[in-house]
Amino acid sequence: MAFSDETKQTALRSAGYQCECTRKCSHHPGRRCNADLTRTAWHAHHRTAVAAGGSDALSNCEALCVRCHQNTRTFGR
Ligand SMILES: [Zn+2]
Ligand SMILES: [Zn+2]
Repeated sequence: MAFSDETKQTALRSAGYQCECTRKCSHHPGRRCNADLTRTAWHAHHRTAVAAGGSDALSNCEALCVRCHQNTRTFGR
């Protein structure tokens, strides 16, 4: 399953076109990432993994820069 283009665009807009990651990534320690997603590649991340029952609804969609999305593998979500 995957997010629809409409869901992804709405998530990006509601994130302020900035990475909304608040994980403890090494490149933005302790706070929101805020990477400019209009200038860089980004990924729509499932807050709750599909395998764990997460849906493709907007509420489960998180706009992340590529670096943060890679870190979601490290942190498990
Ligand atoms: Zn980020
Ligand atoms: Zn991050």
